[in-house]
Amino acid sequence: MGLSADTAGRPQRIGVFGGAFDPPHNAHVALAKAALAQCGLDVLHVIPTGQAWHKARTLSAPEHRLAMARLAFDTIEGVVVDARELQRTGPTFTIDTLKALQAENPACQLYLFIGADQFATFGQWHKWREILEIAIICIADRTESALTQSQFDVYAPHNHRFFILKLPWMPVSATQIRQMMASGSFTAEEAGKLVPGAVARYISHYQLYRPG
Ligand code: ATP
Repeated sequence: MGLSADTAGRPQRIGVFGGAFDPPHNAHVALAKAALAQCGLDVLHVIPTGQAWHKARTLSAPEHRLAMARLAFDTIEGVVVDARELQRTGPTFTIDTLKALQAENPACQLYLFIGADQFATFGQWHKWREILEIAIICIADRTESALTQSQFDVYAPHNHRFFILKLPWMPVSATQIRQMMASGSFTAEEAGKLVPGAVARYISHYQLYRPG
């Protein structure tokens, strides 16, 4: 599977990268840069989710997650940090966001970016068939073990709608950062390896993820 970055005479390419971003970390930033470069996107919407139906944990306040997303992504050319899901009340579904973007840009081709953990449960997503019809799904692996063909075959006849992003394996997660902050081991040195500097300073300033 290969995607040409030629721009002449092709529909506008709009990427969507959603996440709790609680907090945004270096793998998120690397994924966004890889998305722009490898898919020849015209724009990538980074969309902090509302309280997602599939996350049991209560997320940090929307204003903190939005501020951190801006600090992490705003300096990347081609990225727009898009607050639409934070402004929506009730459950937020990816299909609704994709449809809204398509309505705003009728001639566009949509690309949805997800990590392999999200892909593993993709068949349980709300209206996943419709998602596959309107967006190309681009997957970033999260383990050293490569994704297997059989994982795509279950989505036949839509299995040609997937693209694997080339991204070095980065074993960082937001959970790990929250745990480090809660246990007091989120030192400046450790933080520098895991999150953009401005995000580390924001977390420390607001004492996010501290217990009680
Ligand atoms: P948490 O640990 O709280 O579940 P997370 O680190 O998975 O958070 P999210 O904000 O939930 O971060 O992730 C947003 C998107 O980025 C998801 O599609 C997720 O799969 C992907 N992603 C997160 N971390 C990585 C990583 N290290 N490598 C590749 N993709 C990642």
